[in-house]
Amino acid sequence: MPLQIIRNDITKLNCDAIVNAANATLLGGGGVDGAIHKAAGKELLQECMKLGGCKTGQAKITGGYRLPCRYVIHTVGPKWNGGQTGERELLESCYRESLRLALEHDCQSVAFPLISSGVYGYPKDRALKVAVDCITGFLFEHDMLVYLVMFDKSSFQIGEKLFADITAFIDDKYVDTHFVSRRTQRDEWGESTVFGESEQATLSRESFREGAATASKGISFQKRTVSRSLEDLLKQEDESFSQALLRKIDEKGMTDSECYKKANVDRKLFSKIRSDVHYHPSKTTAIAFAIALELNLDETKDLLLKAGFALSHSNKFDIIIEYFITNGNYNVFEINEALFAFDQSLLGV
Ligand code: ADP
Repeated sequence: MPLQIIRNDITKLNCDAIVNAANATLLGGGGVDGAIHKAAGKELLQECMKLGGCKTGQAKITGGYRLPCRYVIHTVGPKWNGGQTGERELLESCYRESLRLALEHDCQSVAFPLISSGVYGYPKDRALKVAVDCITGFLFEHDMLVYLVMFDKSSFQIGEKLFADITAFIDDKYVDTHFVSRRTQRDEWGESTVFGESEQATLSRESFREGAATASKGISFQKRTVSRSLEDLLKQEDESFSQALLRKIDEKGMTDSECYKKANVDRKLFSKIRSDVHYHPSKTTAIAFAIALELNLDETKDLLLKAGFALSHSNKFDIIIEYFITNGNYNVFEINEALFAFDQSLLGV
């Protein structure tokens, strides 16, 4: 996946270049700067001394010395001063200039810390948004693997309201699941084996219930709307995941590259899926495509089923995905921020 948000120590990463959130002297400092100089050894400082400093928003490149990476790209982030003194533009420039240098030096992989979000005081959620926007903008034009490295969990804070909304949604769904299961077990089907049933079974039962909804006895668990026509269902019967994906891409009027980039899925992986009609993607990859295609909940479930997966209400990952789909928010990076905040694996990874 071209942008990966990971939690790690940037000095440990084995990629072509790491980016240093340096100060204007380029002579080392605290935070990530200090950690990078310490791990690289004094030769790094010696090279930096020849560079004559660096302006805010600019970047300069050196060797990696004892670090596992080939290069260190030093960029100077803006100090936060309330947001009215061009901080955002300068921070964007840090990402742009660093990526430009990485490209010029043929880097295939580069890792960024969350620039300016430490001693320089840029609010972490805003710093993260700038980072994600700049990096994804760049990745629309270029092929590169970019890591955004979070040092500690608090660096990766989604807004409090979103966190609260998702928490409430998860709570609701857990309650819903248990309520439906008990009702289903007791009233609806008169059998005792509903727990642990396959999604296939759930789907067909729900489809049945959808048809019978108006005749039902006012039981309140029918929230789903029928959004698949019979024609749609028949068309899909024998399709593989790969075929379904390519059909959906065409139906949505997207190009392949628009789709896999939006899904944050690597081009090589997409080629594999494209050329192997029976390819089985991971669940996160399948969901990333559903998000990129902006499928509704039923369509998402259909696509997942092709790859042998289901969305269930008994794990947080699935519920968070459902939250975003039902809220019409298909921004894979925002979804990943939320997944990260809830300690779940990320999409496309
Ligand atoms: P700035 O002066 O640009 O704010 P800092 O080094 O103080 O730079 O902090 C930038 C970000 O780097 C902070 O979010 C901090 O938590 C993070 N950070 C500090 N050490 C490391 C490390 N070893 N690896 C990755 N990120 C780090």
